[in-house]
Amino acid sequence: MNVFEQLKSFIRGTYTEKITFYTVVYCLIQISLEETLFFAYHYQFWIDAFFEGVGVTKNGIGPNITPLAGQLSLAFVPVSALIVWLTFSSTRSYKILYFILFSIGSLAQFGYWNAVDRFFSVQDFYTGLSVPIELMLDSVKLFFSPLALVTIAIYGLFLLFVRSPSPRKVGGLVSICGLIIVSGILSYRLQELNFATFPVPAFYRSLVQVALTQQDNSAAVRESVEYQHPQKPTNNIVYIIDESIRADHLSLYGYERQTTPKLDTLAKQGKLIYWPEVISASTCSVAANATLISGIQNLPDKERRIYKNPTLFHYAEAMGYSTHYLDASSPRLWNSLSGEDLLIMDEYVNSVDLLYPNLEESDGILAELVKERLNTGLGHFIVLNKTGVHFPYEKTYPESATVWTNAPPGEIEPNHFNTINHYDNGILWNSDLFFNTLLDGLQGDLENTTIIYTSDHGQNLGEIKSPEPHCGRSKYEVQVPLVLIGEYPANIDTSFQAHHINIFPTILDLMGVPEAVRQIDYPISLLEASGEDEVARFYMPGDSDFFTGEPLLYSE
Ligand SMILES: [Zn+2]
Repeated sequence: MNVFEQLKSFIRGTYTEKITFYTVVYCLIQISLEETLFFAYHYQFWIDAFFEGVGVTKNGIGPNITPLAGQLSLAFVPVSALIVWLTFSSTRSYKILYFILFSIGSLAQFGYWNAVDRFFSVQDFYTGLSVPIELMLDSVKLFFSPLALVTIAIYGLFLLFVRSPSPRKVGGLVSICGLIIVSGILSYRLQELNFATFPVPAFYRSLVQVALTQQDNSAAVRESVEYQHPQKPTNNIVYIIDESIRADHLSLYGYERQTTPKLDTLAKQGKLIYWPEVISASTCSVAANATLISGIQNLPDKERRIYKNPTLFHYAEAMGYSTHYLDASSPRLWNSLSGEDLLIMDEYVNSVDLLYPNLEESDGILAELVKERLNTGLGHFIVLNKTGVHFPYEKTYPESATVWTNAPPGEIEPNHFNTINHYDNGILWNSDLFFNTLLDGLQGDLENTTIIYTSDHGQNLGEIKSPEPHCGRSKYEVQVPLVLIGEYPANIDTSFQAHHINIFPTILDLMGVPEAVRQIDYPISLLEASGEDEVARFYMPGDSDFFTGEPLLYSE
């Protein structure tokens, strides 16, 4: 029997499919209830206000509904039951299809639980798509959980040896219940905040959410910059966005190990300035990069401005620059940019086009491309996404480039020695490869060229007990470098406590974009800010709640 015939029999209600019908109705109620609670979780402050309003609470804190939602997700058992039963009552080809769906869902969910202690979420889908193929393969290894195979094997064995049990007969009912209980015990995880359920329904529920989010995002229309500057630009601007680089692990920022010799030399030669105190907009790559490219004022980005604001490329084009986007980190567009944005770019190169032999060489090839473009003259605006030092760190440098294997500086627990050594070795290799390649043989010695260098987010190197090195909530995950190299105005006050959102208006200043052309009241530019401009600095934990979540206040 196929799905359509099964649907027909629900409606006819001629036999035991009635059970399935009631299961479906029950699930719909359950899903609506969960969605309501999920929504309420994001708007806990309404609940708090309501309870205070009716006089139940006085401190402004209402009952926390989140654990309740987590408990209720237990009721997702019937969804599992439905999937199991649909499989049993199908013809062989449909059995294979259900088996494949079950296996994909189980592998993904067990994997996510294994690696990051939670189930697959909507944002994981986008993050997964945005990384280079090498990292995807590494993640598969990192995320693989043998427990998934146990569940899949049990499921498969039941399909092979138990023939179409009928829930009306005792034997059939026992088989179905047995399978649900076994897979349930093996797979159930209760985690309040993530509304954990059984892995398979939770997986498909997330996929539906992906489709809905996609619809919301594609409804946003990017605004254009209706302006054409009368003169040709007389400088080059290179905007380098690194990956997973925490500021305090750079010797430029005072780290004991000499991880950034090239930058240190530039600093000694007076060709570089840096802000010692900078935080990123998010602890996760996608949201941080989208902020850097499209420039927003506030967090959370409730109006989805990252999809609506004109990007740096739009302003650069209006100012007459030739625009280049060189992305070593991803085979496709990911940081709020869409195919439509490509229309105003002169050049887009992604990780596939770069044809690098291995990940550790990729940023060197990227630097070579930038140098080639800069050597053709002035008027270039180039944005780079490096592959940087994303975990697993040991993959970011060749073994022959190992420098540190002993105890790292500071009070580090011995079980984190390896992590930090790999990370530091990765920074040294990557940073020197990149900046040496870029600057050796560059004509004109950075005259009329400004390089802005930052990282998308920082990194948790074991300070916080979490399996995730970033995309969490800790302050270590937002501590990023911010450096200007080459030509920049004198008298910049780098004691300003800077934020990612200050970089966009700074680049507009470097391009000379007239005030009247700027379509948004951007935050203060780094060329104007001083140490006295104190701004409360907020950041968003992770990617998934970027539009609706609670921002965290950064403090030392
Ligand atoms: Zn990142």
